[in-house]
Amino acid sequence: FVQIVKRYIIQIQFADQKQEFNKRPTKIGRRSLSRSISQSSTDSYGSAASYTDSSDDETSPRDKQQKNSKGNGDFCIKNIKQADFGRREIEIAEQEMPALMALRKRAQGEKPLAGAKVVGCTHITAQTAVLMETLSALGAQCRWAACNIYSTQNEVAAALAEGGFSVFAWKGESEDDFWWCIDRCVNLEGWQPNMILDDGGDLTHWIYKKYPNMFKKIKGIVEESVTGVHRLYQLSKAGKLCVPAMNVNDSVTKQKFDNLYCCRESILDGLKRTTDVMFGGKQVVVCGYGEVGKGCCAALKAMGSIVYVTEIDPICALQACMDGFRLVKLSEVIRQVDIVITCTGNKNVVVREYLDRMKNGCIVCNMGHSNTEIDVASLRTPELTWERVRSQVDHVIWPDGKRIVLLAEGRLLNLSCSTVPTFVLSITATTQALALIELYNAPEGRYKQDVYLLPKKMDEYVASLHLPTFDAHLTELSDEQAKYLGLNKNGPFKPNYYR
Ligand code: NAD
Repeated sequence: FVQIVKRYIIQIQFADQKQEFNKRPTKIGRRSLSRSISQSSTDSYGSAASYTDSSDDETSPRDKQQKNSKGNGDFCIKNIKQADFGRREIEIAEQEMPALMALRKRAQGEKPLAGAKVVGCTHITAQTAVLMETLSALGAQCRWAACNIYSTQNEVAAALAEGGFSVFAWKGESEDDFWWCIDRCVNLEGWQPNMILDDGGDLTHWIYKKYPNMFKKIKGIVEESVTGVHRLYQLSKAGKLCVPAMNVNDSVTKQKFDNLYCCRESILDGLKRTTDVMFGGKQVVVCGYGEVGKGCCAALKAMGSIVYVTEIDPICALQACMDGFRLVKLSEVIRQVDIVITCTGNKNVVVREYLDRMKNGCIVCNMGHSNTEIDVASLRTPELTWERVRSQVDHVIWPDGKRIVLLAEGRLLNLSCSTVPTFVLSITATTQALALIELYNAPEGRYKQDVYLLPKKMDEYVASLHLPTFDAHLTELSDEQAKYLGLNKNGPFKPNYYR
């Protein structure tokens, strides 16, 4: 009981610090307005809501000599003293990452990653910590750097360092720090990685550039992000990919969960945190009725909003109609709506002409991959005044006093302004772990120097590991049914092209 009370007190303290952090434009807050050097920051998840302290300790972690309680100093993080708090963050994440916890249990007997030396470059968050500790339980040694200069949860990095992991990352790294941390992970006497887990391709790129010989011992690369996968396909096309690589980004489970279910939850979170808007009765237009659009519409409809949809594709348009949404052209509703959300993956969907016609107080945001959907550049004209009212919230004011509320300067709302449900990250992390196991244990010749998708059966396995959370009971095919459908009773249950 005492521990529960203590935990609550600490959570409240840090929640207060977080609010404070959001209010003040700290050094990190100001710097975050500039472009992050890691491209992956735009297409994979970090933690927008690290409870990391905003203390005034300006000393660079590179200038500090720190050791964990066992005397080990092979790490570089902000402050090892935050380890206890980070441990609690990790414990909370564990509750929503059932599949990794199940893998750990199963690994008690066998260690499928025994001998694996994994070098990783991902967001360093509580969820990543659960992944790293799972890899370690499966037998791997890990060295880790951050794939984004802002997304590290310092307290989590501290807990990992305290637990013996060689972590090189802190929130607010400079560009030089970023590459220095990556280098510290790989450039070590007597230790050479044999597996890469990358998010954005920066680590892979660094090894290619600085230590190409390392690839002689590397068995494979697992890559999570759109950007990193794109870079791998380019390498493969140029005949320069020298080890097999697994494209986790395009796994069915990851795509389904990231696009539809994740957006269904995080659209509300992102809007609420930035604007405190009430959804009931508000008129919202969602541009694009793909997976992301479907998620946004479903969430807003459930909250009592009046939702309009715009589409260019008649099939998705018909789906919107069948789901009970009014299909309109943006020009028809732009004067009356309270919120405009883009999720098309396209460019110039909301242009200056529409921005001019919006009503006072209209909230404008983007849930698509890149910041091209809203023509933000067209708002940088002398007659319009920009007023930063909160972190990631700008009022753009017209000469007559009308203002629109622009969120995250047109960048992805949920990645910029809210967190992503841990359960979604659990699916990705489990896929990453299985991809590492598959590549590490694959017999010679199964994978060539090319980019692969995780085998369908493994995708199904990832999903099945998450079912017990819901006390879900899966029906098993009878022999007769399996024969009738031409399937193996144990899967795969769908063809490779099934999405
Ligand atoms: P999708 O292809 O399923 O859906 C996009 C839809 O937009 C399509 O139906 C398309 O016909 C429609 N469209 C294209 N141009 C349009 C226009 N000018 N006006 C109206 N509709 C238009 O893609 P998706 O999976 O829904 O992803 C959409 C975007 O969101 C992508 O950029 C994707 O990378 C990104 N994404 C974001 C998140 C997130 O967390 N915010 C998660 C996954 C994907």
